Amino acid sequence: MIPVIRPWLGEQEAEAAAEAVRSGWVAQGPRVAEFEKAFAAFAGSEQGVAISSCTTGLHLALHLLGIGPGDEVVVPSFSFIATANAAKYVGAIPVFADVDPYTGNLTPETISAVLSPRTAAVIGVHQGGVPFDVEVLEALCAAKQIALVHDSACAAGSTYRGQPVSAGASLAAWSFHPRKLLTTGEGGMLTTSNPEWAVRLRRLREHGMSMSAADRHASSGVKLEQYEEVGFNFRMTDIQAAIGLVQLAKLAEVIARRREFAERYHKLLAEIDGLRWVSDPEYGTTNYQSFWVVLPDAYQGTVVDVLEGLLARGISARRGIMASHLERAYSTPADLPVTSYLTSRSLILPLYHQMTEAEQDTVVTTLAEILR
Ligand SMILES: *Cc1c(COP(=O)(O)O)cnc(C)c1O
Repeated sequence: MIPVIRPWLGEQEAEAAAEAVRSGWVAQGPRVAEFEKAFAAFAGSEQGVAISSCTTGLHLALHLLGIGPGDEVVVPSFSFIATANAAKYVGAIPVFADVDPYTGNLTPETISAVLSPRTAAVIGVHQGGVPFDVEVLEALCAAKQIALVHDSACAAGSTYRGQPVSAGASLAAWSFHPRKLLTTGEGGMLTTSNPEWAVRLRRLREHGMSMSAADRHASSGVKLEQYEEVGFNFRMTDIQAAIGLVQLAKLAEVIARRREFAERYHKLLAEIDGLRWVSDPEYGTTNYQSFWVVLPDAYQGTVVDVLEGLLARGISARRGIMASHLERAYSTPADLPVTSYLTSRSLILPLYHQMTEAEQDTVVTTLAEILR
């Protein structure tokens, strides 16, 4: 069986997790602090605040910005549903915008089409690792005086104009779910260029406490914490952070390999008439977290037909990125032609670190057979 993705975990991660357990400190502590510093440095950001997932990170980011009932948050429907859900969690209204057919990302045009006087923020998604055009979206949001939050769940290791994607962003949320390229089992990070926001985010993720449990433990005298505002429990554990530190050290190798395999896919897939695939935008590079293809118009079957055909031959692919507005949780009528087209005609092909060239050849020849 060829899987769609497989985390690259080994003895080093197992040993790091075991060491955290043996230390007796398993909740948020010194390893989380170390992982925050290391990830922020990698991401070109001033501050990293570890959290329990990208979803809780997006929720916390909107909460920090004071977004709530009556506000609208522009999101791409063409994203994992957590992006839209974040707006719901703070009582705001997610407003779905369409995306560019090549990058799968929001553009100034698609955002402008849905702006209203109630728009308070935009969540831009670096979808599947492909960066959105950060400068142009920043310029639009600045002109309209609305916040721009990066959903960088998939994008660790992608670049924008030669810098790490989301470097210097005021708020970016990252995911360490096993479906992404760096995993801690579950987990996430908020990066921010604003040190005051980082202080407040650290407080908010830990019940609104004025000092962390780790700091209280480390102090010599009696220290009483205060609860300055209503917070959350969105903490990461030291076991997760220990794994994350090992994974972060391997990330450059993971991305280099994915990019090699993606380039090989580009060459091999050129044999299939009318097929289109994801590639780098002119302003940056993708980490190819998702290698998606769009079926030829001439192919009469559906994505499900192709997925079933692949599965019957031992290949596990996935439907393309979802359209959140079509799911029952939202069922929002919206005129999003590119989103509908991409969702109904695209699929994600297997790509993982341990993949062999022979396995990749099998995927391509099988896909070609099915589409013939
Ligand atoms: C995976 C993903 C999320 C959710 O990340 P979790 O860490 O699982 O909460 C959010 N947005 C996008 C675009 C994703 O791909």
